[in-house]
Amino acid sequence: MIIESAEVIVVELPLRFRFETSFGEQTKRIVPLLVLRSQGLEGYSEGVMTPIPRYREETVAGALDLLQNYLLPALVESNLDAPSQVEKLLAPYRGNNMAKAMVEMAFWDLWAKALGVPLSRLLGGVRHEIPVGVSIGVQKTIDETLEQISKNLDAGYRRIKLKIKPGWDVQLIKQVREAFPDAHLTVDANSSYRLADARSLALLDEYALDYIEQPLRFDDILDHAKLQSQLETPICLDESITSAKSARQAAQIDAARVINVKVARLGGHGEAKRVHDIAWSFDIPVWMGGMLETGIGRAHNIHAATLPNYVLPGDTSSASRYWSSDVINEPLEAENGLMPVPQGPGIGVTLNRHFLNTVRIGGFTV
Ligand SMILES: [Mg+2]
Repeated sequence: MIIESAEVIVVELPLRFRFETSFGEQTKRIVPLLVLRSQGLEGYSEGVMTPIPRYREETVAGALDLLQNYLLPALVESNLDAPSQVEKLLAPYRGNNMAKAMVEMAFWDLWAKALGVPLSRLLGGVRHEIPVGVSIGVQKTIDETLEQISKNLDAGYRRIKLKIKPGWDVQLIKQVREAFPDAHLTVDANSSYRLADARSLALLDEYALDYIEQPLRFDDILDHAKLQSQLETPICLDESITSAKSARQAAQIDAARVINVKVARLGGHGEAKRVHDIAWSFDIPVWMGGMLETGIGRAHNIHAATLPNYVLPGDTSSASRYWSSDVINEPLEAENGLMPVPQGPGIGVTLNRHFLNTVRIGGFTV
């Protein structure tokens, strides 16, 4: 398959709510979308990097430069027979997993469309719907948090994840657990604690959390293992797992008893599948994380989460929770905590060109 052209469309989308985490608040997303073309078909993907590098190091500006000047020129006019060849083509460029993931994921969509099969089938998926939960940002008050939880449990979501930070943790979780004794609860600290906080984090042990996500530094593995030895609550790693190698190392030293897989953070579907497989071999359950994706990234994540070791509810909740209007034509809506996998070839969703034109703020073609 020869890639004939690549188009990047940058859009700005307002979020339906203010999303606050330990590193700040977000009210909109700047989203680069990629369209790869071959034989009358189009493959789609989405970039999840942010304007300011507060999650991992990548930025939108850096990714656009890399895509326009290096990654896409290396791809266009190449003859590629498998997604693994795209990985090989991108391998000389260090880091920048999210930019590389855009290229690799759009190729998977295109390739699945050329074969006429859903992406989930090519990846080895075994589910037609995936269990999902919600992630609730830091609210102004505990009462507002309780109200949000109640609304989402009523909607059937299967797990509630609360963003925490020092000063917004034990009191919050104590009251939430009292109000919802049976709910599957987890917390995500987004790297806002240090190993010296181990004793205060251990106070969370009595609230039966499913796991505590990424308490320590975004690039640390070793200290998480030291922390795990002082906690009963399983540690889940997100930011720190950037490759199959880091997943293996975390598993070997008991730094992660759960792994949050984000396809884009890992550089694409190939590496995400390898992380899934390594975790499975260590009996570590995984779940599909989220980066406030539009319908394009969301559809990719749903397909990836059909693999057998995605046994915990993920972040891929209904698109309408995030967006009043989405960049795709099809609704991606969970029902009773289950998200159906879009059918049809590739990721199974189509771009809403009319809407895209109203939110487009830039782009280029290679
Ligand atoms: Mg996280």
